[in-house]
Amino acid sequence: MIEEFDALAALVAKDHDHDCDGFGPSRVCVKAVAVADLPTRFGAFRIVGFWNNRDSKEHIAMVHGDVVGHADVPVRLHSECLTGDVMGSLRCDCRDQLTEGLRTLLQKPCGVLLYLRQEGRGIGLINKIRAYALQQQGLDTVEANQALGFRDDERDYAVAAHMLLSLGIHSVQLVTNNPEKIRQLAQYGVAVSGRIPHVIPPNDYNRFYLETKERRSGHMLDFTKKRLEEQSDPVVLEGMASPEQPG
Ligand SMILES: [Zn+2]
Ligand SMILES: [Zn+2]
Repeated sequence: MIEEFDALAALVAKDHDHDCDGFGPSRVCVKAVAVADLPTRFGAFRIVGFWNNRDSKEHIAMVHGDVVGHADVPVRLHSECLTGDVMGSLRCDCRDQLTEGLRTLLQKPCGVLLYLRQEGRGIGLINKIRAYALQQQGLDTVEANQALGFRDDERDYAVAAHMLLSLGIHSVQLVTNNPEKIRQLAQYGVAVSGRIPHVIPPNDYNRFYLETKERRSGHMLDFTKKRLEEQSDPVVLEGMASPEQPG
């Protein structure tokens, strides 16, 4: 009997002794250390566990179909959101973005979702909770982060870029609405050959939340343009300076 060649298992074996100068300002190097089948309620994936050498964080790639050595692979980057992804928080729509991302990829011949351990737009879980407390006092997401001494968005996609290159993916079609993700990946040497829009209409729950916020705080949210989001775009409120978009 001939064993079917397993490109992901081969990749894990190849990465065993991997070490490099790393990517991004923190010079993070990641390596693939384990792979297994992961049937989910959305469909069948393989899960690849990555370990990073800077803070020992564990990241994962959810892989559908053949991606190693392929080009134009649909890719979704998802930053961890414990409160949304796991607890079903209505303060953001991360869980919807995660599940829609997985469903979108399963409709393609192949795809990868990278689950990145950068909680709360990169400020960490405890600081995200602190930011929520400030928001209860009337600050918006951006102001709350800035009050805590953070930029609006501390996320860094160097780890994602390294993971994609480790997976031997030649170019990606990014499932995103966020030009910053495309810009950063390109900066780190990942060829972005296209973009797949990530469209999630407001659901009954977060629409209610947004309308409540509007009614209670007097904030105006434009439902046609921006939604409550943590993953892709900041919530934009009338009278607030637009988030800077790179040119
Ligand atoms: Zn490396
Ligand atoms: Zn979230």
